[in-house]
Amino acid sequence: MFKNIPFHRVNWVTSSFLIGTLFLSLTAVPLYIWKFGLDWFQCALFFVMLCACGFSITLGYHRMFSHLAFRGHWSVRLFTLIFGAGAFENSALMWSCEHRTHHKFVDHDDDPYDINKGLFHAHIGWLMFKLRPELTYENVADLQKDKLVMWQHRHVQLIAVIVAFILPAAAGYAWGGWSAALGSLLIAGVARVVFLQHCTFCINSLCHWIGKRPYSSRCSARDSWITALVTFGEGYHNYHHEFQHDYRNGVKPWQFDPTKWIIWTLNLIGLADNLRRVPSEKILLAELGEAQRRMESKLESPYLTEAARAYFTRYCERIQATAAEWAQLKAAQMEITREMMGELREEVQRAIESLKLRDYELARVAPEV
Ligand SMILES: [Zn+2]
Ligand SMILES: [Zn+2]
Repeated sequence: MFKNIPFHRVNWVTSSFLIGTLFLSLTAVPLYIWKFGLDWFQCALFFVMLCACGFSITLGYHRMFSHLAFRGHWSVRLFTLIFGAGAFENSALMWSCEHRTHHKFVDHDDDPYDINKGLFHAHIGWLMFKLRPELTYENVADLQKDKLVMWQHRHVQLIAVIVAFILPAAAGYAWGGWSAALGSLLIAGVARVVFLQHCTFCINSLCHWIGKRPYSSRCSARDSWITALVTFGEGYHNYHHEFQHDYRNGVKPWQFDPTKWIIWTLNLIGLADNLRRVPSEKILLAELGEAQRRMESKLESPYLTEAARAYFTRYCERIQATAAEWAQLKAAQMEITREMMGELREEVQRAIESLKLRDYELARVAPEV
């Protein structure tokens, strides 16, 4: 059973942590609950820590640092760096480096969590074995200029231990003494770390495994409301891979994307700006293009009946007509914008000329005064 494991490549520290915390969650946590019971404080602390650390990963590590999908106030950056460390997913710098590599080489050998190497590899296996090739940090030069990011990168293990374990234990002690401190450490600390890690690991595994591909079938990323529920809204992963700089993953109003709602609210209260959005016509054209690709592949099937073939052909033609109409409208809009810009430029030029003329007149009159 163990002969196929490449022991020379095992990342012993990370593997021991992942297996050890999982073991404690399955043994010490139920034992504690059986002996001392579960009170509301520990449950509340579990959810508060889960949200603080979880959104720090999705909103901070992912959308803000990795994709620059918006610009966060220094307080938002500091908060997500501190509580992101508490997720035990390494520093924002390393996380972004791996994630940008994932987007660049998705589904290929250099993708750190390539789904073609299996669900286990994409979920957790890539962390348990040393990556090949090793990270060079060339793709995160912009983040290396950020003092807060570099501070967190240097002290990430210390911050992680304080936030993930010492903070809940201290809160538990203040609430109910030593037994509550132990319970908070186990439930809001250890079990929360394990639960959150597996939620966010699902972005690399299940989000490339289950769901639909409405925007592009060029890569394995998929949209699914089920994965969105366990990943703080990151489950609309097909959209995300097609338009990675958009601050939204669930772009439709009805899609569950709490990370997007928080970014929008931060923008409203002045803690985030430069929110990047893909124009709706570009999104629609991507959907139409993908629908057409799907229809064309169906038409290639030799088992299609004549009636079905006629139906799919009609559907294909309708898609093509709609896409052409959109392209025409877009071109017309561009033409109008160009004309308006031209008129505006002429008007500004005329205003500058008249100002120059007035200055000249004044300069000519001045010596006589
Ligand atoms: Zn992905
Ligand atoms: Zn991403």
